[in-house]
Amino acid sequence: VELSNQIAAGEVIERPASVVKELVENSIDAQATQVLITVKQAGLKSIEVNDNGKGISADDVEVAFLPHTTSKISTDHDLFNVRTLGFRGEALASIASVSKLTVLTSQDGKSAVRAKFSGNELLKKETFARSKGTTQTVEDLFFNTPARLKYVKSLHTELNKIVDIVDRLAMGHPEISFRLIHEGKDLVWTSGNNNLQQTIAGIYGRTIASHMLDFENSDPDYEIKGYFSKPDTTRSNRSYISLILNGRYIRNFQLANAVIRGYGSKLMVARYPIAVIDITMDPGLVDINVHPTKQEVRLSNEGHISDLISQGIKERLSNQNL
Ligand code: ADP
Ligand code: MG
Repeated sequence: VELSNQIAAGEVIERPASVVKELVENSIDAQATQVLITVKQAGLKSIEVNDNGKGISADDVEVAFLPHTTSKISTDHDLFNVRTLGFRGEALASIASVSKLTVLTSQDGKSAVRAKFSGNELLKKETFARSKGTTQTVEDLFFNTPARLKYVKSLHTELNKIVDIVDRLAMGHPEISFRLIHEGKDLVWTSGNNNLQQTIAGIYGRTIASHMLDFENSDPDYEIKGYFSKPDTTRSNRSYISLILNGRYIRNFQLANAVIRGYGSKLMVARYPIAVIDITMDPGLVDINVHPTKQEVRLSNEGHISDLISQGIKERLSNQNL
C-alpha cells in the first residue's frame, strides 16, 4: 500500500511547491479567510500551512490522511466545477507517504485533535486545543524516497516555485489573506479585502500595482477584467502575465499572447508586460487538460476571449494616450 501511494505521490508531489499547492488549496476549499504559510529551507525542512477554515472532525482525520481507495478523476472533464485539482482525496495521503506530517485541527475552536504520521503510518493521535481551523506541518519531505530528492533543484529555485504558487493562488482569491514566510522573512502578504489591485500590491509591490491600468471588456458570455502595466513598466519574460479563470490560475499561451497583442507596437522588443487578467465564464465551456498537475487549459472559444482581452487593453491604452 505504501509503495503504490509513493508512486501516486510521485505524480502529484514533485517538489516542495506541490505540497504548498495541495495544502493551500485545501485551506481555500475549507473556506478559510486567512492562510499563513511558513517554510524552512525552501520547504525541504518544513512547510506549515495554518488556516482558519472549517477544520476536520476527529473521526475524519485518519480517513483524510491515510491512503484509501478513491480512484483518480481522470474521466472528469468538468474539473472546474469541483474545487480541487489533483487526485481527489489522494493529495494528503500522497504527502503523508513521503514526509512526516502533523495535523492540528479544530472545527469548533475548542476541542482539537493532533495527529502525527510518518510515511503513511499513524504514529500518534491526541486531543489538543486550538482556534477553529487547521495547521498542517510537513517535515523532511522525501525522507523515505531519496530518489525524489534528486529531482529537487537548488533551494533558490524551489523557493521561487513556492512563491510562484502562493502568488497565483492569492491572485485567484483576493477575498483571502495570504502570508508566506520563509526563514522568518515575509515574502508575500495579501490583504484579503477582496480588491484585486491590493492583492497585486501584495505580490508585485505597491508602486507597480498603483501604476497599473484597470480595464474591463465583457460580453454576455464572458466577463473579462483586470490590471496591466503601462508600456514603460515591463519585464524580460512573460511569466508576469497571469490569467485567472473562474478563480483559478491557468496557463494559456494564446490568451497570454492576446495581452501582448493589446499593446500593439508599444512594447520594446523582448519586453513583456505585468498583467493580471480575470476571466469569468460558464464552467461548462472550459475544457481542461485532465492531467492533475498541468495547468495548461484549452477553451472552446479561445479566439473570441483573446479578442476581448487585446481589444480591452488596446482601448484602455489609447484612452490614456499611451
Ligand atoms: P481533496 O482535497 O481532493 O478532497 P485531500 O487529500 O487534499 O483531498 O484532502 C482530503 C480531505 O481532508 C478533504 O476532502 C477535506 O475534507 C479534508 N481537509 C484537508 N485539508 C483541510 C483543511 N485545511 N481544512 C479542512 N479540511 C481539510
Ligand atoms: Mg485537496
